[in-house]
Amino acid sequence: MAIRKVGVVGAGTMGNGIAHVFALAGYDVVLRDLTPEILDRALQTISKNMDRQIKKGVIQESDKTAALQRIHTTTNLEDLKDVDLVVEAIIENEEAKRDLFKTLDQLTRPEVILASNTSSISITSLGEATNRPDKVIGMHFMNPVPVMKLVEVVRGTLTAEETVQTVVETAKVLGKIPVVVNDYPGFVANRILMPMINEATYALMEGVADRDAIDTVMKLGANHPMGPLALADLVGLDVVLSILEVMYRDLGDPKYRPCPLLRNMVRAGLLGRKTGRGFYDYTSG
Ligand code: NAD
Repeated sequence: MAIRKVGVVGAGTMGNGIAHVFALAGYDVVLRDLTPEILDRALQTISKNMDRQIKKGVIQESDKTAALQRIHTTTNLEDLKDVDLVVEAIIENEEAKRDLFKTLDQLTRPEVILASNTSSISITSLGEATNRPDKVIGMHFMNPVPVMKLVEVVRGTLTAEETVQTVVETAKVLGKIPVVVNDYPGFVANRILMPMINEATYALMEGVADRDAIDTVMKLGANHPMGPLALADLVGLDVVLSILEVMYRDLGDPKYRPCPLLRNMVRAGLLGRKTGRGFYDYTSG
């Protein structure tokens, strides 16, 4: 089945980026979130990010105009009933995602692939919530989606090889580099990244060094483009915590125990860039 129309569920940090790259690649996009305000904000973000790409010479003004016309926003899930592929990017909560997959399974044609952008939740479990586990897969984009090349394609226990190939090909059409991995907690990217961010938070909590020293050591010492604390702010501290919780629970190893400072910051609403404060303060712009 040719994929022309894509449903993106969730228009937050990741969902708006996913809608952005599909629309630029020529797909029609139905972008769904819970309120018109969130959807308006997502469209503004997409427009701003495309302006940045125009300034850099990556795309033309006409590409932006055409892409924005291809994005249709809605609060009504029913509007996804005739899409050819769904990419889910709602909150990182297994129950919420399973409920959504159950509904999408009833709503969309049986041959439609249901992909999740989850950072850590079991693809096999999302597949089990549907009658089409062979068509459920992970399509894990990296943040910021328009910039980052990698798509981790996550094969669940019952995902069909044909589904894997379709998603690999689709990721290539988006100009991304797909890498296929298997469904274990954290997959590959977060299995390695999250313990590093967690350890950086422990180092801060224990006073090993201050924030700037920790980030500078990793930038200059390991050649990372940004330090782990700045990266945590970009990802969202709530997202970091929930990924660590899944890894801690499902791998059963204390080495994944989320740092108490991380928990406190999430409780306080210091979630990083999206709330204006995390390890760094973004309120002054
Ligand atoms: P976010 O909080 O920025 O956005 C989530 C959006 O989903 C919100 O706008 C919320 O209103 C919406 N939502 C919740 N329930 C919904 C529903 N039933 N239908 C439609 N919309 C719904 O979160 P995010 O950072 O964009 O993360 C989304 C997913 O992407 C998560 O699974 C996360 O683990 C994954 N992810 C995040 C990152 C990152 O760096 N933030 C990277 C890769 C993957």
